[in-house]
Amino acid sequence: MNILVINAGSSSLKYQLMDPETGDVSAKGLCERIYIDGRLTHKVGDKKVVKDIPMPTHSEAIAAVLEILQDPQEGVIKSVDEIDAVGHRVLHGGMKFSDSCIIDDACIKAIEECIPLGPLHNPANLMGIRACQAVMPNTPQVAVFDTAFHMTMPPKAYRYAIPTEYYENDDIRRYGFHGTSHKYVARRAAALLGKTDFKMINCHLGNGSSLCAIENGKCMDTSMGLSPLAGVPMGTRCGDIDACVVQFICNKYGMSVDECLTMLNKKSGVLALSEKSSDFRDLEDGEKHGDEKCILALQKFFYEVAKYIGAYTAALNGVDVITFTAGVGENGPETRQTICDYLGYLGVKIDPEKNSKRGKEMCISTPDSKVQVWVIPTNEELMIAQDTAELVNAAK
Ligand code: ADP
Repeated sequence: MNILVINAGSSSLKYQLMDPETGDVSAKGLCERIYIDGRLTHKVGDKKVVKDIPMPTHSEAIAAVLEILQDPQEGVIKSVDEIDAVGHRVLHGGMKFSDSCIIDDACIKAIEECIPLGPLHNPANLMGIRACQAVMPNTPQVAVFDTAFHMTMPPKAYRYAIPTEYYENDDIRRYGFHGTSHKYVARRAAALLGKTDFKMINCHLGNGSSLCAIENGKCMDTSMGLSPLAGVPMGTRCGDIDACVVQFICNKYGMSVDECLTMLNKKSGVLALSEKSSDFRDLEDGEKHGDEKCILALQKFFYEVAKYIGAYTAALNGVDVITFTAGVGENGPETRQTICDYLGYLGVKIDPEKNSKRGKEMCISTPDSKVQVWVIPTNEELMIAQDTAELVNAAK
């Protein structure tokens, strides 16, 4: 089966053509500068081509993707008919979606109704869906939501302690994000351990970071909230913060709430503390050279992640497996070691030799560690392709 996975942003669109069973990617790429001018970067194996193609809207971007996929030189298919289905990443499914969904008019209407919850991403995701429907009307499309995996959380985890009317009238609650990644890692962990009845904490640590408490494969709690701003500090996001900070800054500096939130989303996190970079490689470099601000930024990040692991161990009343994934989780031995150094009380022991590897799926704890610790590289595209194939096959 060939599944085209689409992740449409406001001015960009990432794609992968993949086999959901093997995970083999036959081609992938990125459309950038949509609405501005348009550039397509297309990769097949190690071969990369970059083309400037006018992309006044997402429709032209999708058309350019389909054209290059069928190109006699750069392409990998002869006709669009070889694409069995399209899987779209959609940011916010609100309370309407607890699973992926075949796209029809009702699904589109529900995604539109979630726009107030995901004002930046859902409109872009919808543009990607509509563009695909226009150029490949007979190909089934599936929406895979970043929030869906978290819909199993109990009310005590997802309700905010604010007046009920905001929940009942406005759907204000914790939703959580990175759900496709947490689901992929949870399934992979179950496959690697050969069982499903265990308690795990998945640490998705990348530019955006979130943790997820998982029991028997189901999400019980997660660190992001109504939006991806909550939880641990991230590349440029502040993470959990007292709401009065917003009031204070807005009042003192005459900022609007939107301006303040932009600062908390884009200029905060480890970027703000280090005054150097949001990229963990730069922070580690600064740390090596004794840069106190980089050291503080890293320490704050490790400390907050370790605190969440402690909180989720309490929430689950124990933990059997801790997993690390995403850019920093997969590639940061120091990150993993320092976080696990906080977890001695749980009997966590890391094998330094195993932990020195980067980007490899493996167990990095010692045989006598009371909690298994794994690195499991995430693959959100594969999860989207698998969900898409499953739904489309079931509907046949
Ligand atoms: P996102 O998908 O949220 O944009 P990623 O999961 O790709 O982010 O993670 C990006 C982060 O991963 C960056 O901060 C980067 O520094 C970090 N990263 C990538 N490779 C390495 C590495 N080899 N060592 C340490 N950090 C790394």
